[in-house]
Amino acid sequence: MYLSIIVPVYNEEKNIHLLYQEITQVLSSFSFKYEIIYVNDGSTDNSLYEIRKLSLKDKRVIGIKFKRNFQKSAALKAGFNHAKGEYIMTLDGDLQDNPKEIPRFIEKIKEYDMVVGWKFRRKDIITKVIMSRIFNGLIRFLFGIKIHDNDCNYRIFKREIVEHLDLYGGLYRYIPVFAHNKGYKVGELKVRHLPRRHGKSKYGFGRLFTGAFDLLTLKFLLKYKNSPLHFFGYLGGSFFTLGTFIGAYLTFIKFVYQQHIGNRPLLLFAVLLILIGVQLISLGLIGDIVRSNSNSKDYIIEEKINK
Ligand code: UDP
Ligand code: MG
Repeated sequence: MYLSIIVPVYNEEKNIHLLYQEITQVLSSFSFKYEIIYVNDGSTDNSLYEIRKLSLKDKRVIGIKFKRNFQKSAALKAGFNHAKGEYIMTLDGDLQDNPKEIPRFIEKIKEYDMVVGWKFRRKDIITKVIMSRIFNGLIRFLFGIKIHDNDCNYRIFKREIVEHLDLYGGLYRYIPVFAHNKGYKVGELKVRHLPRRHGKSKYGFGRLFTGAFDLLTLKFLLKYKNSPLHFFGYLGGSFFTLGTFIGAYLTFIKFVYQQHIGNRPLLLFAVLLILIGVQLISLGLIGDIVRSNSNSKDYIIEEKINK
């Protein structure tokens, strides 16, 4: 086995060395190869210096430096692109994910393609815990994945999972959902969550909104990515049909009952519906064109027989 451990780092100068010590200590009783990739996401403190120091001392420590802060998902993505291991482990750089749990992850991944940590007693402020409960409930409901803590960055998985998923932006938080959707076996592992010792959390309430939009994108991508017209066409078709019926009714009363319809709000409504309908259908068609031009994969082949 070759394990790549990826740690996103944004102003964690006091944690980098401690984390390194704990990881190497835990892994010293194993014989497999591993690397630790610190992705320095535009830290303004001495994080980069700390990473440099470690990498001089230990060749298994790899540093990637971003030009500025590009957010955690970008940091993870860069880590994935540089990982050489067949397995990838991600954990936060703030020591809230306890490296002592790594052996349990390694044991459990034998049965799964991905194992996600479950911080069943979160050591964060109460509002964050409640928010995360709601989100995770919503995710279980929307995507039928039986994982309690989708937000937990403490995970291990086969590298091929990220090679197959074409993710961007905040969607990296939902790798378990994508993996599950593509047919990978996703399991979970209860982990002890530790309070932050040094530095402070980088996330506040803003995450509520971006998170909600991400969920919307996620649902849309998983369901309609290959056929945007199914979504827009359905909506646009309904609007168009309703508008046409109202228009027909108005035409009928104009010619049969000789009534004036030019000043009726209903006429405006009918025209509006037809226009929106046509636009939505066109949008769907454009979506299909865009989709047909992209060459991202729709399937993953697990095995080839007699090839
Ligand atoms: N992080 C990052 N880029 C950012 C924000 C955070 O790389 O823009 C890192 C941070 O250094 C830490 C991890 O992501 O290693 C989790 O961040 P944090 O502890 O602030 O989040 P919380 O645990 O409060 O959700
Ligand atoms: Mg944290």
